[in-house]
Amino acid sequence: MNKTVICPGSFDPVTLGHLDIIKRAATMFDRVIVGVLVNSSKTPCFSIEERIEFLKEVTKDMENVEVVSFAGLLAEYCRQRNVDAIVKGLRAVSDFEYEFQMAITNKKLNPHLETIFLMADSDSMYLSSSMVKEVASMGGDISNFVPQCICSRIEKRIAKLQNKED
Ligand code: ADP
Repeated sequence: MNKTVICPGSFDPVTLGHLDIIKRAATMFDRVIVGVLVNSSKTPCFSIEERIEFLKEVTKDMENVEVVSFAGLLAEYCRQRNVDAIVKGLRAVSDFEYEFQMAITNKKLNPHLETIFLMADSDSMYLSSSMVKEVASMGGDISNFVPQCICSRIEKRIAKLQNKED
């Protein structure tokens, strides 16, 4: 059966933890949509275009992966695109409560929609986009946290933002 899943998130910026989940989903399902959420209540560090560009670059060899942006309700977007399931990475126990709540809400909004959790890899268990931004803003090495091909662009962009704030 042809199964389409979505990996939603802010990806501000994409980390090795996100990429691990996308790669694993791409081996398990026929089609993977990476959905970058346009969220007006959050102020992202990277523009939607930059986040999409990074994601496209790091998934370019994965033929069944598509990168899109979406606004509004995820459950509604999934209905429009005939998505069968949401795939999310689960890090420490602290992720669980919120994710459980989201999964139940999405199922109520769209009863056909399942949420599937993949356990985070032990190497990226404590990795988050905010941690990457914090380390980079203090001049730290982020090469173990983000895909190599976008590492220097992330560092430069964050350094530029820092200079503006000084
Ligand atoms: P963050 O929490 O880093 O800001 P996002 O909102 O972009 O991340 O998260 C999108 C999805 O990616 C969520 O399902 C989240 O659980 C998952 N994810 C984020 N970081 C990791 C990681 N290090 N390992 C596994 N999954 C992750």
